Amino acid sequence: MSVSEQMVQDIVQEVMAKMQVASEVSGSHGVFSDMNDAIEAAKKAQKIVGRMSMDQRENIISNIRKKTMENAEILARMGVHETGMGNVGHKILKHQLVAEKTPGTEDITTTAWSGDRGLTLIEMGPFGVIGAITPCTNPSETILCNTIGMLAGGNTVVFNPHPAAIKTSIHAINLLNEASLEAGGPDNIACTVEKPTMETSNIMMKHKDIPLIAATGGPGVVTAVLSSGKRGIGAGAGNPPALVDETADIRKAAEDIVNGCTFDNNLPCIAEKEVVAVTSVVDELMHYMVNEQGCYLASKEEQDALTAVVMKDGRLNRHCVGRDAKTLLGMIGVSVPDNIRCIVFEGSKEHPLITTELMMPILGIVRAKDFDDAIEQAVWLEHGNRHSAHIHSKNVDNITKYAKAIDTAILVKNGPSYAALGFGGEGYCTFTIASRTGEGLTSASTFTKRRRCVMTDSLCIR
Ligand code: NAD
Repeated sequence: MSVSEQMVQDIVQEVMAKMQVASEVSGSHGVFSDMNDAIEAAKKAQKIVGRMSMDQRENIISNIRKKTMENAEILARMGVHETGMGNVGHKILKHQLVAEKTPGTEDITTTAWSGDRGLTLIEMGPFGVIGAITPCTNPSETILCNTIGMLAGGNTVVFNPHPAAIKTSIHAINLLNEASLEAGGPDNIACTVEKPTMETSNIMMKHKDIPLIAATGGPGVVTAVLSSGKRGIGAGAGNPPALVDETADIRKAAEDIVNGCTFDNNLPCIAEKEVVAVTSVVDELMHYMVNEQGCYLASKEEQDALTAVVMKDGRLNRHCVGRDAKTLLGMIGVSVPDNIRCIVFEGSKEHPLITTELMMPILGIVRAKDFDDAIEQAVWLEHGNRHSAHIHSKNVDNITKYAKAIDTAILVKNGPSYAALGFGGEGYCTFTIASRTGEGLTSASTFTKRRRCVMTDSLCIR
């Protein structure tokens, strides 16, 4: 289905009307004016979900997948329209990825021991109502992905979404509850408030009925969640370096790096944010980037002008985040054709456009004198986030050395960063990568607790 701008406007109006209703009559398909009411409704829904069979949960999840596919374009357009960030085509792909590759109930597995003294199981049970905080960079993607995993684990969820993406988030939450109701489940499997604030976030974090909080966002929110006194899953910031050594297929490395870096205008936390290349390949890499991959080589003056716009008063200018390369260059008075998709330049690792997690298609290239120097610079640039890193190399010893040194939740070898999400790579998808707290790529089992279930002296039939 092709979605016109008018249809997007209509949906936005519809969501705003629902928000109006929510402020008058709380509880429209998961949207409430008061956070306590949202949690109460999610608690009631969880009592029903908790009694459901795995098959019934899976039926709801199937319907969520179907609705996510059907609404991929509208959600993508709403996200770009509301936040001003990202690329519609790529956001459609991200929603399709969520629908197709987010694990459901099959992710919940049981461990068993049987022997002369009977049968012991570890069963993965629900926490109850999970509190979730979501970013503006992947708003509906994160909400849909989190809910599939949390519901598969037998939980319901209350979101405190980023205020800058509240309409898109509410639309996703409405869809989730519609999917549940249509599949015979309860309303309010996913809830939120119409006006999320720091205060509603605090109410959620401190609430007695929220035993687990999943925070996806920058360092501030992860630190807040980890200081809440509750169990927290912290999916924090990254600044992923892509390392290129002399054994790499340089032409392919240039293609993979630029494809990964420009995906959704560099919004994904896993996307290549800078390159560290050994000196012998820098010129060749740059050649392919500029001549074959639509990169614009910024002069020193243009780098300075970009730095002044992007890093206003030393802080990341949110108006530049998630913009495309042509728009960013337009901001400094440089006009380029539509096929320019990335801005490249060579600089030191301390360059503000290299050391900062920009989330826009500006890719600084740092020259390293040899592989060990490249590792050292890449590790420095990752800032200890332990989030994501990438490498282009045919030398397994080099890859192993880098992997151990950088110690990240994700390390893509010889491919674009999005291969880590199962897009052009094996494995499942998630939009919550728990880098800080170590769960890594979250899935349904991340949102369950381990319970030991013991039968003595019986049920062993070996
Ligand atoms: P952000 O940190 O500004 O906001 C994320 C969420 O946290 C929002 O809902 C915001 O309202 C809330 N928040 C922020 N500070 C808070 C605090 N002190 N207390 C409570 N809530 C708070 O991030 P963003 O701009 O929306 O998203 C981009 C950031 O998120 C980047 O740093 C990116 O790397 C990171 N991110 C990480 C992952 C991951 O899986 N690890 C995924 C997506 C984005």
